[in-house]
Amino acid sequence: MKIYIAYTGGTIGMVPSDQGLIPDAAFADHLTQHLNESDELAHDFVITSYPTLIDSSNATPKDWQTIARDIESKWHDFDAFIVLHGTDTMAYTSAALSFMFAHSDKPIIVTGSQVPMYKVRTDAMINVMGAISACEEGINGVFLFFAGRLIEGDRAHKAHTSDWQAFSSPNCPELGVLGIDWRWRSTNVIKQPMVIQIPEMDEGSVTILPVFPGVQVAHWQGLLSENVKGAVLLSYGAGNAPDKDPALLTLLKAATDRGVVIVNVSQCGAGSVAAGAYAAGSALVKVGVVSGIDMTYEAAFVKLSFLIGLGLLSEEIRAGFLENEF
Ligand code: ASP
Repeated sequence: MKIYIAYTGGTIGMVPSDQGLIPDAAFADHLTQHLNESDELAHDFVITSYPTLIDSSNATPKDWQTIARDIESKWHDFDAFIVLHGTDTMAYTSAALSFMFAHSDKPIIVTGSQVPMYKVRTDAMINVMGAISACEEGINGVFLFFAGRLIEGDRAHKAHTSDWQAFSSPNCPELGVLGIDWRWRSTNVIKQPMVIQIPEMDEGSVTILPVFPGVQVAHWQGLLSENVKGAVLLSYGAGNAPDKDPALLTLLKAATDRGVVIVNVSQCGAGSVAAGAYAAGSALVKVGVVSGIDMTYEAAFVKLSFLIGLGLLSEEIRAGFLENEF
């Protein structure tokens, strides 16, 4: 197989500095050497480091575009793509790639590590080798692979700061789990034609509105500024937010009236939004908030950014969430 591996930054290829860990520009060479040492790997690897390597906590939607354009430009030259990325925003990037490479007919796998490769006790190679193994298995689509789990790209959530198992897939079983061998979830996927769409995505067009005890209009006003076109509302439980403060609901209504798409996602971390179940949730529906159903907040944030980037009207974006399209 011809496998393209892009190092974008992140712990996997970091080395110590006076300020703490920073990405190492020589990492691609180290990894190339490592992979070429093994006789078992009969693949053609091309491994590159991006010119500007980042800690993924600095990533913006522009970085998702950069990665997607890089993959697109090499699409016909490779059989599989592996993106090495920091864990902090890896779930956002894997979601972005799954929307941009919908129904991908090649594997695109995002991975990284909790401990850098230069350390003896590292999870770097086990994650890289797992990602390569997933490509060898002939799976197609966009996935996040970490600590033995192959998670659908738009279903992953960073769930632990320090466990090897840093990612969960709260509302969808993993496609595969790798121990000594792979264990696969049986799927009944209807093959659909692949669609690559890499829109211009403005930084700052999507925001996150947190719900917390005592939340006030002043807390959200700044977040719902003029240039915002989409918002993820991090609600309680099955999609509830306080309905006893009319000013909060008026603010949300004014935003939806001017075309801001507000998507309701639970801060529980797992389960679905059923916003009509309680009066406190119905109030949100009345002011035009749409249900994110069982999406992670990362995927909801990215889907809003993607659909807004495509230039869709707010009605079309709302329909995209309600019908679970795109
Ligand atoms: N801060 C790092 C990053 O996201 C953490 C990691 O890679 O695990 O780039």
